[in-house]
Amino acid sequence: MKITILTLFPEMFDSLNYSILGRAQEKNLIDINIVNIRDFSLDNNKRCDDYSYGGGAGMIMTPQPLFDAIKSVKTDKSHIIYFSPRGELLSQDKVKEISKTYDDLILICGHYEGIDERIIELCVDEEISIGDYVLTGGEIPAMVFVDSISRYVPNVLGNTMTTEEESFSNGLLEYPQYTRPQVFMGLEVPDVLTSGNHGKIKDWRLEKSIEITRLRRPDLYRNYIRKLDKE
Ligand code: SAM
Repeated sequence: MKITILTLFPEMFDSLNYSILGRAQEKNLIDINIVNIRDFSLDNNKRCDDYSYGGGAGMIMTPQPLFDAIKSVKTDKSHIIYFSPRGELLSQDKVKEISKTYDDLILICGHYEGIDERIIELCVDEEISIGDYVLTGGEIPAMVFVDSISRYVPNVLGNTMTTEEESFSNGLLEYPQYTRPQVFMGLEVPDVLTSGNHGKIKDWRLEKSIEITRLRRPDLYRNYIRKLDKE
């Protein structure tokens, strides 16, 4: 999977070089390429922002540096995403769909009050939001996206980790997890988990998943029940 990130703040992406994503890059499972949009500015002072036509507070990222940056990395296979609060809300299903469909992603990080609309018209395939709140830039959304997508790239997660039994994978939130010691600060691990009875453990986990989802995310719970009724 090739991921190219266009940003005005390349240093922010240093954190992608650690832990699971760091190892995935060392093994060439994912190829992350960070491109500084400013390098493409034809302005004498390398400016990449300007005032908004029509007025209003805040600056807008100018189209020329972005357009040229995109042109320098785009291939026939590229899928271009712009992070924006106006975009489709990112979900586990969306992450899975993108990771299975595309092998060459270009991610555009906006800053200030966003980017010139003509870049969206000319170059962007889809807009994605990571939540109903506004951040200062698209760099953190891009990191959230890269992290979530990479987990679906074959061999990125070791044998001991899986995307199959996690929150959202079956439409439910995850059951409670425990590790050693068996008693901590007077609290014991539920007996069923140390019983060795795999059937009972599976039933207990499903029951807890359903209970937690019903209490915390009634929207997901309703969808889960609707799906069960259809089956
Ligand atoms: N003026 C924009 C609006 O009202 O929708 C907000 C611009 S925001 C301050 C600057 C940049 O941060 C955006 O261009 C976008 O790339 C990124 N951004 C902010 N919130 C985001 C979110 N919830 N999801 C994805 N990207 C976001």
